[in-house]
Amino acid sequence: MASLPWNNELAAALTERKAAGRYRCPRIRTGQQGVNIVVDGRKVVSFCSNDYLGLAANSEISHAFIAAAEHEGVGSGAAHLLTGHSRFHQELELAIAEFTGQQRALLFSTGYMANLAVIDGLLDRGDTVIQDKLNHASLLDGGRISAAEQQRYLHADMSALERRLVASDSARKLIVSDGVFSMDGDIAPLAEMMNLAKQYQAGVFIDDAHGFGVLGEQGQGTIAHYQLEQKPILMATFGKAFGTAGAFVAADEEVIETLIQQARSYIYTTAQPAAVAAATLTSLKLVQQQSWRREKLASLIKQFRTGAQQLGLDLMPSDTPIQPIVIGDDKQAVALGQTLEQQGLLVGVIRPPTVPAGTARLRITLSASHSEQQVNQLLSALEVAHAH
Ligand SMILES: *Cc1c(COP(=O)(O)O)cnc(C)c1O
Repeated sequence: MASLPWNNELAAALTERKAAGRYRCPRIRTGQQGVNIVVDGRKVVSFCSNDYLGLAANSEISHAFIAAAEHEGVGSGAAHLLTGHSRFHQELELAIAEFTGQQRALLFSTGYMANLAVIDGLLDRGDTVIQDKLNHASLLDGGRISAAEQQRYLHADMSALERRLVASDSARKLIVSDGVFSMDGDIAPLAEMMNLAKQYQAGVFIDDAHGFGVLGEQGQGTIAHYQLEQKPILMATFGKAFGTAGAFVAADEEVIETLIQQARSYIYTTAQPAAVAAATLTSLKLVQQQSWRREKLASLIKQFRTGAQQLGLDLMPSDTPIQPIVIGDDKQAVALGQTLEQQGLLVGVIRPPTVPAGTARLRITLSASHSEQQVNQLLSALEVAHAH
């Protein structure tokens, strides 16, 4: 028996959660990742992965992974600061620094850990971290574990941010924002943010999990999208558009060296398998060279938005592959998701606390691997479901 003395309370809370339409449970996918997948034994067309460029099951990337694993093994054996840092990790850090135009890059096993590292590792008691209200949970958690004071401002509202900056008497202030917001799909007003940061002598840290690979000429992300000269500290993940796993932080020499010395989620964890870094090196090459993937994606986004607008659906102001449709009520959103699933179309149903109460939504994500016909199929299904 591995129960707790308060097991009954857990059971009651779970029942309550079910009744509220907020129960979560994983499905089982079999076979290849992609847009045509099998979940719980059924073939569906997926509109809910973050595999924006269709690279998650790319064979060239898989081959790089297999070759490196055969050469080095699967386990990395230790943390980076012991013997876990392989030549593939090193090569990838150099390549990412060059690709992002930053002095240095540092790999992390996950984006979650990279975000904890930056906020906890760079700030201390007496400092202030100022975050957009809709920032990813891992950024908010970084603020929670850090000794710095955490403040939040209204989503993408630069005058609200400025009021926070004016009011703070901390010598060190760090502004933190998603580059592309994960549940809304909009792009942060980064140019204004950089100007405010300069004016108030604050630092800026951008989490570009959803912009990296997708935005910018070669997929360098939100910073390239705005063609900024002055660069913020950047975190981006490889588990989304890059189709592999892990994450990096890119910044100036001093920032990266400080993370190596004192970021706990860098120091006290096993390095990601070297084969993953080898796979990501191939992924980086494809992201840079195959701009047709970004062009195809942009054209599908346009097709979807035009169609959804004609149906009178409640779209959000998003030019990215994240295209949420706000439903509002939790149970209604779940029911709509189920109706679509019965027709073989899988979309994300996002409920509080992931999004604010009363804004439950279908989170539709597009991939370069979708066909125009599949997007039309989704639009038709939405038309029917919406009419009921
Ligand atoms: C997915 C995501 C993360 C976490 O990255 P993982 O590598 O999956 O841990 C961090 N921030 C944002 C905005 C994300 O969407």
